[in-house]
Amino acid sequence: MDFLETLASRNVEFAKTGFNADLKMLPSRRTMIIGCVDPRVDPMDVLKLEPGETAVIRNVGGRVNPALLETMAILGTVSRAAGEAVGAGWNLVVLQHTDCGINGCYRHAPKLLSKYMGVSDDKLDDLAITDPYKAVAIDVAALNANPNLPGGFAVTGLVYDVKTGLLETVVPPTVLRHELTQGRST
Ligand SMILES: [Zn+2]
Repeated sequence: MDFLETLASRNVEFAKTGFNADLKMLPSRRTMIIGCVDPRVDPMDVLKLEPGETAVIRNVGGRVNPALLETMAILGTVSRAAGEAVGAGWNLVVLQHTDCGINGCYRHAPKLLSKYMGVSDDKLDDLAITDPYKAVAIDVAALNANPNLPGGFAVTGLVYDVKTGLLETVVPPTVLRHELTQGRST
């Protein structure tokens, strides 16, 4: 069977047995995950997520780049329109992984990667493209330093090992700009 036909029949099965019309637009666990597009590291699989629990943004590498920040800004607006501002009390999880395909891009097309990450070519090496343990810490620091994100997020940096299936917490949860949010309700 053609794979698209397979997908269509799986969807019919889902609509019959797995569909829940009561799910909400905002994630029930108040959690947003930034992950990589690699099919081995789908957060739905490796974190055994239930439908509706989290919002997941996936890009190459699970990196914090200008496009990711734009998406988060739009999500902030969407959530406010849906009646709840994203921020205090929410988790923001950056999930990167070993053996990431972004390494190949670094070797073969570094200029493309500089553009993707929003840095000049000579700054690309500062972003530890080929080392997910350093990269995830750099990206959590970038989120912490970004004044446009709402304060109060608990930001966590994780690395998933594709050889073991296990996660390592590289940056434990820290509240984003906690000092700015104290005394505020949002
Ligand atoms: Zn990857």
